[in-house]
Amino acid sequence: MLLNWSNIDTVLLDMDGTLLDLRFDNYFWTTHLPLRYSELFESDLSIAKQSLIRRLEEKSGTLDWYSTEFWSRELCLDIVALKREVKYLIRERPNVSKFLMDLGNKGKERILVTNADRNSIEIKFAETTIYQNLDKIFSSHDLGYPKEHHKFWSGLQKTLVFDPLKTLFIDDSEAMLLAAKEFGVANLFTIARPDSSGSLCQTSGFVALHDFDELNVSNC
Ligand SMILES: [Mg+2]
Repeated sequence: MLLNWSNIDTVLLDMDGTLLDLRFDNYFWTTHLPLRYSELFESDLSIAKQSLIRRLEEKSGTLDWYSTEFWSRELCLDIVALKREVKYLIRERPNVSKFLMDLGNKGKERILVTNADRNSIEIKFAETTIYQNLDKIFSSHDLGYPKEHHKFWSGLQKTLVFDPLKTLFIDDSEAMLLAAKEFGVANLFTIARPDSSGSLCQTSGFVALHDFDELNVSNC
């Protein structure tokens, strides 16, 4: 993989679909939540599914979409408790721990930048070891804008000292990568298969990683 590591000081990392398997999130929103919603409110499963999809689409690209508090309020459900019911699906993508440790050993700053809120971050950290190998954690909810918004990036720069030209950002979402590119982040990669049970993503204009081993950090 062509990446000049001597020119990288900071590595910004997305969480869901990048460090962690997106299977948990996809399963929760498209299968588990509609099922539990239909059980708790005694409604038809296919109608509950359609209604939830429509309501989620209306909030796409906003912080509300990623907010457990918002959806708990909207749906009169405890989203955090429901997420914990399927926490066994939360897992790291292959070679994540090694990748993060290698980055640390090479003196690269490892920063989590996620649209997940603090409740969701807590659930993920409890089930994985990524927390031990991250230097700083930023939730877009703390900055007031989601990562796909240019104000997230200007806000991040006010809080975190980093040189966009010496930064690598890895995210499974093209919208986030495009916003980072517009801000001036020089090195950008996406993830080939964010959901281990899903298909390869082939629509992105960014180079896609199949495995973090491709970045060859230990030999840099
Ligand atoms: Mg993601």
